[in-house]
Amino acid sequence: MRIQKIPSSDYEEIWEAQDASQNFHAFIVLHSLKRGPAIGGLRFWKYPDSQAALEDAQELARAMTYKAALARLPHGGGKAVMIEPNTSYERRNLMKLFGQFIDQLNGRYITAKDVGSGASDMEIIKQETPWVTGLAQSHGGMGDPSEPTAKGVALGIETCLDYTFKNRPQKIRIAIQGLGGVGRQLSQLLSQKSYEVWGTDVSAKSVFACSQLKNFHSVLPESIFKTPCEIFAPCALGNVISQENISQLNCKIVAGSANNPLRDAQKDANTLHQKGILYAPDFVINAGGLLHVAAEFTQLKKAELENQLNIIPQNLKKIFDISESEHLNPLQAALQMAEEILKN
Ligand code: NAD
Repeated sequence: MRIQKIPSSDYEEIWEAQDASQNFHAFIVLHSLKRGPAIGGLRFWKYPDSQAALEDAQELARAMTYKAALARLPHGGGKAVMIEPNTSYERRNLMKLFGQFIDQLNGRYITAKDVGSGASDMEIIKQETPWVTGLAQSHGGMGDPSEPTAKGVALGIETCLDYTFKNRPQKIRIAIQGLGGVGRQLSQLLSQKSYEVWGTDVSAKSVFACSQLKNFHSVLPESIFKTPCEIFAPCALGNVISQENISQLNCKIVAGSANNPLRDAQKDANTLHQKGILYAPDFVINAGGLLHVAAEFTQLKKAELENQLNIIPQNLKKIFDISESEHLNPLQAALQMAEEILKN
């Protein structure tokens, strides 16, 4: 395997590794090590070219720095991407090579699962390096991070409701896009509170898994944006909210788990703000998954992790206060708060 450092002035370290015999090509980007070793998942994805893969890793690593700082974790931000080969490949061999690649960084980067990788991949990586978290419970880990992510989002939604309504409406409706790991558990949590859940998924199986919940209604994927509701929760992929569809939104709050839900982050955050729709920034409200994998790494007890989730509503409250007093949209306020934490 050939490993080389790519010079950069904006990132602490950028590394590229290749092994042509296995069609292996990966990047590790360490955006900041100021608060401790960088932590962030491994994205295993088909990219049009290596530049697109590197840019994705850079953007994701930067967001991890803010997410970890706001969660007050002793970690910096990092991310890895491995390019899924177009030709045939042996997944196990790729994961082993990735484990060896991480090991070269001597603990400055800790990996976990992300889009395209899973707990079983982390177990293979673990055979090559100790710098990995997010293992299945059967392998000594804390299991699926979707549950604490959903719990954190549910806590954040309560803060958004408190902030938006002096007197809460009798009926609270939430429109959830994506009923996968996080969306399904969020639906459960909110249906238990007697909120009306209007959910959609492109997979009929995922919709079916929620259909028995109290107060659950299914919506067609194309209708979810205009579903009348108090909260729109993007819990599917990123880049789903844009200048083209903000006008369709029929809600007071946008708060969900999806990473990078805004296509043009600052512009879309401004438009939502001007329209009086409260936006809970993704890297603040979806920090439950990161808290979970960091807790597994430091062997924190599950009860302590539950306590740590309270940082999410606390952060959101501060961000909404800053947004109001300094006439910023909540995304600007969140970035400002993260930069302050990083400075100190
Ligand atoms: P998942 O893959 O389990 O679920 C996503 C669901 O969205 C799938 O069921 C998929 O069919 C559905 N979907 C995709 N496109 C859709 C569309 N256009 N309309 C409706 N449904 C659509 O993923 P997840 O783990 O639940 O994560 C959801 C989001 O939250 C992702 O953006 C992820 O990056 C983010 N996130 C997850 C965690 C975590 O702990 N799982 C932590 C932080 C952030």
